[in-house]
Amino acid sequence: MKKLVIGLLIGLTLGGSVPAAEWIWSWKPAPEDPQPQVEVCPLKYGKKWAYAIEIDDGPKWVRPFAVPFLADYHYTEAPPGVPGGVRRPFIGSVSVIAGSVDNNDANLNGEDLRALIGSGWGVMNHSFDHRANGWSGPSAALNEQQAQEDAFWSQAVLASKLPGGRAPSGAVYANGYTEYNRADALAACGIIIATRVGGSSPRNVTGPATKWMDFTRSYLDEKVWSNEWNKGQPMADFPGADKDGPAVNSLVIDFTHGIERQPDSANQQRWRTRLKTIEDRWGAKGTDELWCGTTAEVAEYARAAQAARVTVTPGKLLVSIPDPVSASALTLRLRGISRQAGVEAPPGGTLHRQGEDLVLTLPRLAPWGVKPPAPRLKRIYDGPAVSVDFPKPEAIAGVTFRLFGNVPSPITYQLAVRTAAGETVIGSRILKSGWVVGGHLFPILPAKPAMLGTGVKVTGAEPLKAMTIWALESIP
Ligand SMILES: [Zn+2]
Repeated sequence: MKKLVIGLLIGLTLGGSVPAAEWIWSWKPAPEDPQPQVEVCPLKYGKKWAYAIEIDDGPKWVRPFAVPFLADYHYTEAPPGVPGGVRRPFIGSVSVIAGSVDNNDANLNGEDLRALIGSGWGVMNHSFDHRANGWSGPSAALNEQQAQEDAFWSQAVLASKLPGGRAPSGAVYANGYTEYNRADALAACGIIIATRVGGSSPRNVTGPATKWMDFTRSYLDEKVWSNEWNKGQPMADFPGADKDGPAVNSLVIDFTHGIERQPDSANQQRWRTRLKTIEDRWGAKGTDELWCGTTAEVAEYARAAQAARVTVTPGKLLVSIPDPVSASALTLRLRGISRQAGVEAPPGGTLHRQGEDLVLTLPRLAPWGVKPPAPRLKRIYDGPAVSVDFPKPEAIAGVTFRLFGNVPSPITYQLAVRTAAGETVIGSRILKSGWVVGGHLFPILPAKPAMLGTGVKVTGAEPLKAMTIWALESIP
């Protein structure tokens, strides 16, 4: 048999001005084979529904504990009912407060986040500082500019710490507050799915009614899971648990702030029962109809499936996904390729036969995440929260402060940028006394243009742990 030609190329589509990811797969058709037919499967691996798990607020224990904990449970890469698929572990996504990354040992740091993504987990945007909400009145509400600042800065700061300098494509609303996407602020910064408890979207991810920026999730914090409605039932708030399982093409998201690390605790036992039930009924030990993906990956898949152009001729398949749609690893169903044809799974992909159909999963066609919002930023200072002079003028985009520790008495601190014309105060913040943790943002972008500055003047910020000064990559 002739060596099969399998190629992956990312380039410009001929005849179109939009750059696209393109992928070609070839096989040796049998002489009697008809013109093949192809369709994009609604979900990866030809599965019936998708399962995602979200852990909020970026806690440190996710990497040492939650990763192996979930990896005790499996589905396979094969379509439902087809034996022999490679087993894949359950994974989750961690939603992180951008201003808290690298703050202290209780939070995941940048190295942790890169390792999590490397092991197949997702990282989601959970706002810059988790401050805004819908119940504390005007002081906690976001106006349009503030929503745009939060979206821009949370994405830019996360991108500076994540693989390839790329930003998350999924978000979890801090405090369930959907105004973080006011005036499409999150969507404008690359977010394609945002979740919260009580989100209004149908779970079906293939229909026109899907509300990607308001997707729902099940609330599995201990105090909620054990309350008078849920009664500590392991399958509480799991759709279809008492029937055949979730409806076809749905995305089911479980969410928590914590899984108890004590093995014999009621909470951990309940988690194990829930995950084992999912695995036994619909995972590797059952019908194998679920795909356990990251929340963002499911949304990326649905977008790519809708946007993909697929053409097939005997012996050759061409898949083209236009930018800026994230080029997810699509699964295709091919008809008319007999068992006598010479087919081989593509590198990084999978190939299974389900009845007379071939089910082909492509490798991922693009790197993790999305481009960070423009313009690109660089860090020109990372250190103590003190006044700094630059060796040469820089186009200052904003300044972030990291807080961690005890503030003995209330402080007010102020940030100014030194320019050729003098000092321009960017803002001031008040810190109450007591234990503080989190990030403070003094944005210039995106509401105003970057400021050509020779330094910053910081007053009253001694108790703060650290400061980062962000500038445009080049002076415009
Ligand atoms: Zn949160």
